[in-house]
Amino acid sequence: MPAHLIDGKAIATRLIEHITAAVSDLRAAHDLQPGLAVVLVGDDPASQVYVRNKARQTAAAGMRSFEHVLPASTTQAQLLAVVRQLNRDPGVHGILVQLPLPSHLAEDEVIEAIDPAKDVDGFHPINVGRLSIGAPALVPCTPYGCSLLLRSVQPDPAGQHAVIVGRSNIVGKPMAQLLLALNCTVTIAHSRTRDLPALARSADILVAAVGRPEMVRGDWIKPGACVIDVGINRVPAAEPGKTRLVGDVAFAEAAEVAGAITPVPGGVGPMTIACLLRNTVIAACRVRGIGLPVDF
Ligand code: NDP
Repeated sequence: MPAHLIDGKAIATRLIEHITAAVSDLRAAHDLQPGLAVVLVGDDPASQVYVRNKARQTAAAGMRSFEHVLPASTTQAQLLAVVRQLNRDPGVHGILVQLPLPSHLAEDEVIEAIDPAKDVDGFHPINVGRLSIGAPALVPCTPYGCSLLLRSVQPDPAGQHAVIVGRSNIVGKPMAQLLLALNCTVTIAHSRTRDLPALARSADILVAAVGRPEMVRGDWIKPGACVIDVGINRVPAAEPGKTRLVGDVAFAEAAEVAGAITPVPGGVGPMTIACLLRNTVIAACRVRGIGLPVDF
């Protein structure tokens, strides 16, 4: 495997150590303990695992963690009331509503009800707009994590051609803004893009955020390119009845051609929670008018 393996787990661990130290300093110097509230509606087992994991890591970093688990029958008005109460709570600096919501709830209205200063997912239109004009914003966690992984191997990717496959509001579009801000030349591809393999082969930086297992093949990769695989797909394993996780990139093939590549699991995934904790610290510092910790 000639490609350099970008170890997201190790990079996320170092980032969380840095955040934990910053939280300890904020508590000692400013009596400020950042607090993150996570709201889960319904009993989807995968979401329950995510939420429990977020709560555990939030507390481990020295922050306050607030969990609000609401029944699947929760109405729009009840959910909005919880969000508004969290907006008013001075101990809560970050609010995350676990998506997707049950289908009877209007996600857009819930996201817009979150105070933009507490919107640690970075999905509120105010933060989306701020990111696009280069103003200080709370930036979506997964794409920000991808940009850190990229910069771990290419501190200054200015002038490189970045191709992002996927144009979702939570990954593809904010990823494009972040790469533009790093002075890349950015192309966004999607399901209607023509001759995607040829476009992908023109990429110095290829970000795959599609949700299709191993769609990006080895012969789509430009030799030496940096490949960031956002996909998390569960597929049947060789052993009957078992499953395994794969990305949107055919890893073994791609690693023969790429210059650097993220694995799945252990690449982008661990960065998302680390960046969520980082956003919570940023939100807490901003609301108190405290300068951000060094290297944030
Ligand atoms: P969405 O389903 O919202 O978006 C998928 C995008 O891929 C769409 O823009 C779609 O195009 C495009 N697409 C679908 N099929 C094709 C195709 N055949 N050719 C080209 N483009 C295609 O997914 P998300 O952005 O939410 O997530 C993408 C992946 O990232 C998923 O595997 C998800 O699990 C993973 N993920 C991982 C996270 C992490 O922490 N590591 C966090 C968030 C997501 P169109 O718009 O035209 O339909």
